[in-house]
Amino acid sequence: MATEQSYIMIKPDGVQRGLVGEVIKRFEQRGYTLKGLKLMNVEKSLAEKHYEDLSARPFFPALVDYICSGPVVAMVWEGKGVVATGRKMIGATNPLASEPGTIRGDFAIEVGRNVIHGSDSVESATREIGLWFPEGVANWTPVAKPWIYE
Ligand code: UDP
Ligand code: MG
Repeated sequence: MATEQSYIMIKPDGVQRGLVGEVIKRFEQRGYTLKGLKLMNVEKSLAEKHYEDLSARPFFPALVDYICSGPVVAMVWEGKGVVATGRKMIGATNPLASEPGTIRGDFAIEVGRNVIHGSDSVESATREIGLWFPEGVANWTPVAKPWIYE
């Protein structure tokens, strides 16, 4: 499994509900490296581009409104298997189907208020990071790296 990056976003409900620290804590404690982080209001065009694969779905307008309804925390997390493991940590799309112990399984009930986004593949992550961090991300190596990786 390769070192890779994932685009992780705390959605407006997660920000409003004070879950920013909780989400960051989980990724930090797992051993992943924070490479990019910003709190931002989202333009409609960016939300539409981010979710362009879902544009034909009936929930698309409500989804775009939701993402633009308040600030989000946009992040890039890096590490071995972070895309797939990040998805496991986040839980199923429908929070009621998410296992307890996952972020959605611990903090959400409805699919349209499911707190967090995580890239679903390395290819999606590359596209999403380019979209949300056109300025690039930070370049650093945590001193704990040899204590996390063999
Ligand atoms: N969504 C929704 N209704 C649905 C399916 C999805 O409101 O029936 C929203 C939900 O916020 C979800 C987002 O659209 O997180 C993107 O959907 P996707 O299938 O990509 O789920 P995810 O990758 O976020 O688990
Ligand atoms: Mg998705």
